[in-house]
Amino acid sequence: MTTTRKPLIVITGASSGIGQATARLLSRRGHPLLLLARRLEPMLALNLPDTLAVSVDVTQRAALLDAVAQAEQQFGPVDAIINNAGVMLLGDITRQDPSEWDQMLDINVRGLLNGILAVARGMVERKHGTIINVSSVAGRKTFSNHVAYVGTKFAVTGLSENLREELAPHNVRVITIEPGAVETELLSHTTDETIKTGYHAWKQDMGGVVLSADDVANAIDYAYGQPQGVCIREIVLAATRQQA
Ligand code: NDP
Repeated sequence: MTTTRKPLIVITGASSGIGQATARLLSRRGHPLLLLARRLEPMLALNLPDTLAVSVDVTQRAALLDAVAQAEQQFGPVDAIINNAGVMLLGDITRQDPSEWDQMLDINVRGLLNGILAVARGMVERKHGTIINVSSVAGRKTFSNHVAYVGTKFAVTGLSENLREELAPHNVRVITIEPGAVETELLSHTTDETIKTGYHAWKQDMGGVVLSADDVANAIDYAYGQPQGVCIREIVLAATRQQA
């Protein structure tokens, strides 16, 4: 009996949160994976079969392209990339250190474009493939102390829709995932303690129950799992009690 191996999926930001949950789920579905993030240990600790984990900073274009080429040598062409790596450094725009804006723009926008660069041409040539970009509800509406972060996520939502239009004639899908608050490490990198406290209070206001990383992984899996001829263009999901 011959078994056909499922195609390769690349996941950026796979060392924690949504990326890690998605890696577990898509591995259970039988896909070989390329996992990328700066921290290698948590990706190796997942101990997933047919998985290459590489320490890559998504802002380092050449390193990202090299890792994808290496994985394709091992597992064949990439069928999907989940551009998920991101940081959220909330701040009062009049006081925030502008280096935090640079960091978010570099990782959330340029890093995501690097992920697109690594796969788009091959997908167009093969007339097959899926690019899944993780934006946010903050890519559709505004929140206090979110100015620079909202800027990066509106960029992701906007460029993803444009990309979808450009790649549609080539049978390549582009899917935008826009979660509300999810329980992950994301907030921990914000340096302003007052804003962090306020964010925790906001979560308590909605009953202390926000989305889990698995909830978002399930949405990604659902969208990717449709036939290639069906493109779920956008999924906006949030805890039922999240009002904003
Ligand atoms: P986590 O902080 O748990 O995960 C972020 C991931 O991104 C980590 O694996 C981190 O790995 C990786 N990452 C950060 N910077 C880089 C970099 N320069 N190069 C490579 N990888 C990097 O947060 P989430 O799982 O919540 O975040 C995932 C995505 O979901 C982000 O794009 C975020 O904006 C989005 N999102 C999250 C929401 C939430 O409430 N949590 C809501 C809406 C959207 P490492 O540090 O090892 O490099």
